[in-house]
Amino acid sequence: MSIKSRYISFLAAIAVLFTNCNQGAKTIGEKVKKPLNIILLIGDGMGLAQISAASVISGGLALDLIQAIGLVKTSSADDYITDSAAGATAYSTGEKTYNGAIGVGMDSLPRTTILELAEKNGLSTGLISTCSVTHATPASFFGHQKDREMHTQIASDLYGKGIDFIAGTGKPYFDMAKLQKEYQVSMGQGPHDFKVSAKHFWFFNDSIHPPKVAERGPWLRNATKAGMSYLAGNKKGFFLMVEGSQIDWGGHDNDLNYIVTELIDFDKAVKEAIDFAKADGNTLVIITADHETGGLSLNSGSIAKRQVEGSFASTHHSGIMVPVYAFGPGAERFQGTMENTDIFKRMRELYGF
Ligand code: MG
Ligand code: ZN
Repeated sequence: MSIKSRYISFLAAIAVLFTNCNQGAKTIGEKVKKPLNIILLIGDGMGLAQISAASVISGGLALDLIQAIGLVKTSSADDYITDSAAGATAYSTGEKTYNGAIGVGMDSLPRTTILELAEKNGLSTGLISTCSVTHATPASFFGHQKDREMHTQIASDLYGKGIDFIAGTGKPYFDMAKLQKEYQVSMGQGPHDFKVSAKHFWFFNDSIHPPKVAERGPWLRNATKAGMSYLAGNKKGFFLMVEGSQIDWGGHDNDLNYIVTELIDFDKAVKEAIDFAKADGNTLVIITADHETGGLSLNSGSIAKRQVEGSFASTHHSGIMVPVYAFGPGAERFQGTMENTDIFKRMRELYGF
C-alpha cells in the first residue's frame, strides 16, 4: 500500500466514523406526517450529469427547487449494472432481482407491487409512460413475467388489475375487445383540459412506442395533469407512477440533445406533480431514476449561453448512484444514501400498508 492510498484509507475511516455519529444522533420514532397520495416519477437513465446538462440548457428545472434529496444505489441482484426491469422491480416490490425480471423475484415467482398494495387498500392507481405500457419500467408495477421481452404476456397481466388511469403506447400488444370491457380508450394528444370520467386507457398513438418529444409535444405533462385530477377523486388516496422513458434512449444513443429534450419534458411533468402537491397538501412526490445511462460526463459549457458539451463512457447503463428528490409529507424519509429497494419500503411505510 502506497503512502497516498494509506492516507485515502485513513480519510475514508474518518468519514465512516462521522457517518456513524450522525446516524446515532437521529431521532428514533420521530413523528412523520403521512401522505394520502404518492406520485413516483422515474426518469429512466437520469443521472446527475443528465440533470446538470438539462438544468443549464433549460435555464433551471423544477427539480432544482426541491430541497429533500438523497442518493440511490442501483445494482440488481445478479449484476452491479442494473437494467430497467430489475431497477423498476426494486422500486415496485422492494426486492432486488435479476436483470430482465418483471415484478418477479430471483425464483421467477411474482412479488406484490406497491401498485397492487394500493389497489388492495382501496386507493386509486395510475401509470403513465412515454413508451409502451408493457416496457420494463411501467410493466414492473403490474406485470409478473420472467422476461421483459414477453410483451403480450405482460399486456395480459394488465386485464382485471383495476388500474384506474393508464397513458402510454403499446396498442399492438393489447386485445382491444378485452381492454374496452374495462376502459374508456382514447387516442392522441388530448386537449390541455383533458378530463377523464371513467377508468381510462389513453394511447398516444397506435404504435409500439411514441415518437421523441419534438413530435410528441407536451403529452407527458398533459397525461400527468389528467391522471392526477382523475385519481384525486378517490378520498382514500392514490398511487401514480410517471416515467420519462426516453431519457435512457438518448443515453444509449449517446445523443445529448435527445437526453436533454426528454429530461426537460419529464421535468414539466415533475412541475405539474409539485404544483398539485403544493395545492393538495397530502401528496408526496418522489422523483428518481432507475440507473444512469451512458456514463455521461460534462466537459465544457457556458451558463450564459445555455450550452454544455459532454462525452460518454459507454452506450450502456453505468453503476453511478442516482439522485432521489422528494417533496411533500414524508419527503425527509428520502434523504441520505439508500438502496433502490428502500424506495418501496419507505413508500409502503408512509402509506401505512
Ligand atoms: Mg424505462
Ligand atoms: Zn436503458
